[in-house]
Amino acid sequence: MELEAPPRRLLSLVVPVYFEEECIERFLEETRPVLDALPLDWEIVFIDDGSADRTVELLLAAAALDPRLKLVELSYNHGKQGALTAGIAHASGDLLLMMDPDLQDPPEEIPRLLDALGDRYDLVFGVRSEKRDSLKNRALSAVFWRVLEGFTGLSIPRGVAVMRVFNRAFADRFLRYREQNRFIEGMFMHVGMRRGTLEIAQRPRFAGRSKFNFARKLELALTAIFDFSDLPLRLTMRLGLSMVAVGVLAFVAIVIARVLVSTMQMGWASVMAAMCTGFGAQIFLMGVVGQYVGRLYRESKGRPLFSVRARTNLARRAGDDG
Ligand code: UDP
Ligand code: MG
Repeated sequence: MELEAPPRRLLSLVVPVYFEEECIERFLEETRPVLDALPLDWEIVFIDDGSADRTVELLLAAAALDPRLKLVELSYNHGKQGALTAGIAHASGDLLLMMDPDLQDPPEEIPRLLDALGDRYDLVFGVRSEKRDSLKNRALSAVFWRVLEGFTGLSIPRGVAVMRVFNRAFADRFLRYREQNRFIEGMFMHVGMRRGTLEIAQRPRFAGRSKFNFARKLELALTAIFDFSDLPLRLTMRLGLSMVAVGVLAFVAIVIARVLVSTMQMGWASVMAAMCTGFGAQIFLMGVVGQYVGRLYRESKGRPLFSVRARTNLARRAGDDG
């Protein structure tokens, strides 16, 4: 009797792309041999996040020759967090591995990451042994993670790389997080399960430019803080209360001064100063509350998390709301 070999497990690479025309070919060239050497079947799910260069054209050409290359085209730019969500929703692997096409996290690390996952963990984060980045960027991200940890209490591994691998159970649980404001690192920590880390080597981005300028990083930081903590609300209350206390004390002091020194002049300058401070603080505090209200509003609409324009080598899957 002929014994059938057990079916091989499927590995899905999830790769968001946004204006990455310079990277696609080299990415495929370097990644394919690594994947072919694995004792696994594989697919690569590219998510085009609304690029207007040749990214899609190159990917479609590659996908026409190899059905294991899949492409989800989003209708417009959703941001990396949305693109990754769409990618995870379309991947059918037993194991999923996230990576960027700029090869900052090198493909040689894929087998090591898979080994580290084994059956011991549900998720393994790659962490950078050293980050090849400018001093300014490194300083900014150090501040970012510090503040984030302070505000949210999430202890996301320091120097977490983009490359990370997780199993189907983890992916399915992640897909049940339907929130609109998505900070994926935080959500991954919230999913929990068995997590590990593995130090991986880094390369500089070999072509193209980083799409994360200061403003986009700041936006992500605010999402992280407001979505994972109510500390700003609590600080707001404390600040407001202290200001009331200071105001009352000042008022008492002024009355006493007036009684003791009958000729003292209370100029309008002090009044203006007090009003200015008071109004300023109020507007600021309303802004903080407004952040939460805005986010609640976005959540309450319950819109689909992404919008797909076209799929190549891929069928629509259950739970895919694009
Ligand atoms: N990206 C995306 N949508 C965006 C911005 C970026 O899908 O709106 C992708 C981009 O193509 C890349 C990854 O996110 O694959 C990380 O971007 P990048 O390498 O520019 O950022 P960095 O590595 O400098 O943080
Ligand atoms: Mg990069």
